[in-house]
Amino acid sequence: MKEVKTPKKPLAIYYAIVLLVLMLLNFVLVPWMSERQVKEVDYGTFMSMTEDKDIGRVDVESNQIIFTDKDEKQIYKTGLMNDPDLTQRLYDAGAEFSSEIVEQASPLMSFLLSFVLPIVLFVWLGNFMNKKLMEKAGGANSMMFGGVGKSNAKVYVQSTHGIRFADVAGEDEAKENLQEIVDYLHDPKKYEEIGASMPKGILLVGPPGTGKTMLAKAVAGESNVPFFSISGSEFVEMFVGMGASKVRDLFKQAKEKAPCIVFIDEIDAIGQKRNSGQLGGNDEREQTLNQLLTEMDGFEGNSGVIILAATNRPDSLDPALTRPGRFDRRVPVELPDLKGREEILKVHAKKVALAPGIDFNTVARMASGASGAELANIVNEAALRAVRAGRKSVTEADLEESIEVVIAGYQKKNSILTDKEKCIVAYHEIGHALVAALQNHSAPVQKITIIPRTSGALGYTMQIEEGERVLMSREDMLSQLATLTGGRAAEEVVFGSITSGASNDIEKATQIARAMITRYGMSDQFGMVALETVNNPYLSSDSSLVCSPETSARVDAEVQSLIAAAHDKAVGILKRDRDVMDKLAAYLLEKETITGAEFMDILEKDDAEKQQYRARDGRRRGAVALPLPRFTPGRREENA
Ligand code: ADP
Repeated sequence: MKEVKTPKKPLAIYYAIVLLVLMLLNFVLVPWMSERQVKEVDYGTFMSMTEDKDIGRVDVESNQIIFTDKDEKQIYKTGLMNDPDLTQRLYDAGAEFSSEIVEQASPLMSFLLSFVLPIVLFVWLGNFMNKKLMEKAGGANSMMFGGVGKSNAKVYVQSTHGIRFADVAGEDEAKENLQEIVDYLHDPKKYEEIGASMPKGILLVGPPGTGKTMLAKAVAGESNVPFFSISGSEFVEMFVGMGASKVRDLFKQAKEKAPCIVFIDEIDAIGQKRNSGQLGGNDEREQTLNQLLTEMDGFEGNSGVIILAATNRPDSLDPALTRPGRFDRRVPVELPDLKGREEILKVHAKKVALAPGIDFNTVARMASGASGAELANIVNEAALRAVRAGRKSVTEADLEESIEVVIAGYQKKNSILTDKEKCIVAYHEIGHALVAALQNHSAPVQKITIIPRTSGALGYTMQIEEGERVLMSREDMLSQLATLTGGRAAEEVVFGSITSGASNDIEKATQIARAMITRYGMSDQFGMVALETVNNPYLSSDSSLVCSPETSARVDAEVQSLIAAAHDKAVGILKRDRDVMDKLAAYLLEKETITGAEFMDILEKDDAEKQQYRARDGRRRGAVALPLPRFTPGRREENA
């Protein structure tokens, strides 16, 4: 679709040019032209020319005398002097002479001519041009001369390059839901005959960057109708009532252009619950919302105007807005699953030159939790990286590195870690990886690195899932807790001291342990009681406690004991396998980055050796799950 932008600048430029030309005429050209024709002389010359009878026509004006020579070839001028004999001398010289007849101009007339007429002319011309430009822009954008209070919705006229459903990867449920709207816009009669009316408003709800705007454009693209797009915040103006008049104008335009789609992005900017929490309320926002409610009631269900709106804070919307008859349908647009991520990566990868043999499934698994916008960004980062390296196409390594850039920032080239610190970081990361690998219910290790990143991470262990996981068991979560505490445990086991590097691990472990108790009912003490509510599932996982202070204190104690148990488990695993931990840490210290395969190789070799030894010894090793253990969801990044 092509966006029609209404030019605002030409008008200002037009005024500036007109003004400049007028000034040029007034101050430069007029004096210059008159300078060229009239020669200024002194009064003596005028007298001697009169004496010599070399004088033709003479005009005595109120402040000067204009005269010509005898042949009237040159015009002269001179100042006026008190010269009572002048008339006699001119008569004697035979000159043709006269004095000007001063006409007193009417003051009203001169006021009209010098002030009112130019202003009237300017205003008329400005309006005329405004009208012409509006006609060109489809009459949609009029925040120009005299257009205050009109909607500044962008109008996209349909062209063959419009976004289609095929461009929106994944999101099959949302597309299926919106397909009905497309069908209706193609053939409204089918619906009218049976007496069905389309929902007036459809609310697209989901986290940022999941393709809500894209879906709305795709509906317009598929149905081949005009698409009005405006953001909720554009309605809110400094002056009370302005937003309301913008809403009125938007709906007026939409009705004129029906069938069409109006898309209001970030509708929570105007649609927030009225008087929610603030004293006195917000008059402008409330009036705008009221106007929107009125307008939505004011048109028939089958008028051909479909309102789509997007928000990532559906819980904050005013109930009047979401009641049937207004935004009565809600279409969730969620973060993409593994298949969705793979498809989105492929859609965006079409725009860049790819090296052969890229496994998008692996890349999609690494990017667990990423939104469509983030995935688009990852592909672009990879392309930029390829250009930086002087290559002609994007490789899988580029894509993987750009995911790490998104997770942990760029590599710090000249970091100033001492050898001792590097050694601690290596043991810390191997601690995580080893605890993960030696437990059931852990995701396989994909990569371990001790190259510091700009986000502040001194190293990290990346685990990725084999497939998509929807449910997590208690055991999965306990394994995760042990893995998170593995870094700190390794420092204790090897160095006998602890560092600040585990802060990120501690934060995450606490979050998981708390959620297990307060939200997932996984604690024996509290059972299936909800002790916390999540405030906004789409924007952050902020939650607030809904229990008494006594219970809250008991929750804290239980969180502590869960993490302490996980930590003990990690210490136990690492003490038992201290020898292989030393081997792995030395290898990581040498290489700085190792893959999951290299890691597992060393681990398996060590295990095979031990098995042989045990077979000879007739002993058996404890619960070790090798080779690949099972998996827990989530991408992980660890501070060293
Ligand atoms: P939202 O409105 O949900 O915040 P947008 O629709 O503006 O997100 O998406 C931002 C960008 O992310 C799009 O321009 C597109 O490049 C990319 N994107 C998001 N979701 C998808 C998807 N499902 N398929 C392809 N690209 C997507």
